[in-house]
Amino acid sequence: MLRSLRVLRGLLLAALTVSICAFAPSAHAQSSAESLAVSSPAAAAALVAAPAPDRLAQAYASFTPENRAYARIRVALRLLGPWYGVLAGLFLLFSRLSARFRDVAYGLGKRLYVRVLVYFTLYTLAMFLLSLPLAWYEEYAVEHQFALSTQSWLGWLGDSLKGVVFSIVVLGVVPLLALAWSSIERQPRRWWLWLAAGTLPVALAAVLLQPLVFDPLFHRFTPLPDSPLRHQLLDLAARAGIPARHVYEIDMSTTTRKLNAYVNGFGASQRIVLWDTTLRAMKTDEILFVMGHEMGHYALGHIWKFVLFLGAGAYLVFFLVAQVHAWCVRRFGALWLVDSVADLAAMPMLAIAISLVMLAATPALNALTRATEHEADIFGLELTHDTDAAERAFLQLAEGNRSDPDPPRWIELLLYDHPPLAARIRFAHGYKPWESGQKPRFYPQAQAKGVSAPR
Ligand SMILES: [Zn+2]
Repeated sequence: MLRSLRVLRGLLLAALTVSICAFAPSAHAQSSAESLAVSSPAAAAALVAAPAPDRLAQAYASFTPENRAYARIRVALRLLGPWYGVLAGLFLLFSRLSARFRDVAYGLGKRLYVRVLVYFTLYTLAMFLLSLPLAWYEEYAVEHQFALSTQSWLGWLGDSLKGVVFSIVVLGVVPLLALAWSSIERQPRRWWLWLAAGTLPVALAAVLLQPLVFDPLFHRFTPLPDSPLRHQLLDLAARAGIPARHVYEIDMSTTTRKLNAYVNGFGASQRIVLWDTTLRAMKTDEILFVMGHEMGHYALGHIWKFVLFLGAGAYLVFFLVAQVHAWCVRRFGALWLVDSVADLAAMPMLAIAISLVMLAATPALNALTRATEHEADIFGLELTHDTDAAERAFLQLAEGNRSDPDPPRWIELLLYDHPPLAARIRFAHGYKPWESGQKPRFYPQAQAKGVSAPR
């Protein structure tokens, strides 16, 4: 996703709630997902013809030197990217630009709301400019170098600017940030409790509104066109207990060649969205499995569980953020011309503290999302009974994704929010409780319907 959006999401702590539910690993998904190396009819036919055990070998074979190079760059970017953001924030502090932004904000307004809005606008624009080289490399240059992006330079820049304006509007004009700042001003020791308490409603609102307000800024959503596939998908959704009006197609082909599908939103806005690239490249039974996986997220309530988890975890996160923030301001404040944690010019330090704490929490959060992704895989298998289609769908990803199907353990722990593809293929290959009469874990009808589950 866009860098500017990451700033917004980091501040709201809502990032995780909206990125957990894609089919493909997010390291390679959303803005930078998986192209389809295997989209030629001949390659696809070879895939179907291959006996299942060979698919694992195919997954390894698909990790060509070119894909390895792409994966290496992405791993480096994922590892170093957050530190680049930290450095950019430190630059604003040590160069005293942040102090200057505060002075401009104080010169332009008397009310806290106006001052926060002016400061935050300057800060966001400065961070956008400082981050632009890396964002351009990560989201545009690399994606074009490996022929994964279909977006023009101007299109990419336009989307990035839209993201900046969106974060200024949401955090600045909606008085969220001013509210947060007034709590820091009033309670310089216990402000973190207020921000933690505010996280749950803000995350809920963000998740609820994302599909309605944010997503349509960048892409067009349409209900699936009338076709045999649509009927099969709606039949599958009905069996999983999901209303048909919640299944959409999104025109991702305007920006990427990669494949994915996801579920987001909350309550009435919750929806399952298929990338049009996936619709075009995958076979019907593979799409049905991918959707079965997404329906697993939906039916197992992964989104609201994650929102609740964030709401509770926010107390620990903001407590630690407050300690780091206070210590750094005490230690370096004089150098930055920042006199207290409530000084507007300290905002970059607050963002840095949030980044550092979230970085430390990432391995635990990834372990959690890997577990929920595994649950969704199980649900998809129990819903479709189609382990073969699942393996093919995973393999399509392994090839299109250019991700390492079997990464070193430390990379998996640090970066993977989905199980690695080899693990997913291996699991799908052996998971057939309906054949051995075992109890299914998540989809109760699986056993009752027996081996002849509808496809
Ligand atoms: Zn998923």
